[in-house]
Amino acid sequence: MARFCPLFSGSSGNSYYIGSAKEGILIDVGRSAKQITDMLNSCEIEIAAVKAIFITHEHSDHVAGLRVLASRHHIPVYASEGTLNALEAMGCVNEKVQAGTIDDHGLSVAGMKITPFPISHDSAECVGYQIETSDGRKIALSTDLGYLSDQVRNCLAGSDMVVLESNHDVGMLQNGPYPYVLKRRILSKTGHLSNDACASELESLVRGGSTRFVLAHLSLENNTPDLAFQTSLCALKLSGMKQGHDFELYVAPRANTENRTIVF
Ligand SMILES: [Zn+2]
Ligand SMILES: [Zn+2]
Repeated sequence: MARFCPLFSGSSGNSYYIGSAKEGILIDVGRSAKQITDMLNSCEIEIAAVKAIFITHEHSDHVAGLRVLASRHHIPVYASEGTLNALEAMGCVNEKVQAGTIDDHGLSVAGMKITPFPISHDSAECVGYQIETSDGRKIALSTDLGYLSDQVRNCLAGSDMVVLESNHDVGMLQNGPYPYVLKRRILSKTGHLSNDACASELESLVRGGSTRFVLAHLSLENNTPDLAFQTSLCALKLSGMKQGHDFELYVAPRANTENRTIVF
């Protein structure tokens, strides 16, 4: 059994722990090193358990605490080649950080196999990650994507647990205060996934064997946890599926102050 602990999620910072109590990995470090270590401790995970950090892309809500956390605790960092180049140019990775690239052959860390897959976003080389644990459980994580390509669908299919972006309600975004250019960026194919777009993927994922879904990277201004949850729940109910029977649906909190961990 592995555990998934969403430490932080959303435009104010993203970081997820996957592994056992003794060893695991972080996906993204979008808050300060202190906030990340404090949240890990609250979830009863020592920072020494983190054997590697995998980065999805270089936007600050995914890397804000990366340099300090990785250099202070000597944790190796892996990212796609394009993302790593961007991180070096930004100074998020320097000579004090042990950094390497990861490609579609994947890497084995902490008894897990981690494999990236490309996703469509306005950054250098954004990826999602598939993780297979030592007991054969699979989790796929995909946030910060404008749309789901067939390649992404294939990478999510068959995962026991899927962490998928449910960024915004399109109506709230269109009627909200964001400038036109930003609205267009979010709605574009290299922007962010809406509640409806997320919800429309879930039925086929359940039919492919996925049972746990975590809605992630919610917008603070253009969404609410309840709206994201209800949109996906309604879509699954309309397909004749029942929460607690066919699937479990969660929303990753902006900060995991309740220290919630999902076992999969
Ligand atoms: Zn981004
Ligand atoms: Zn982001």
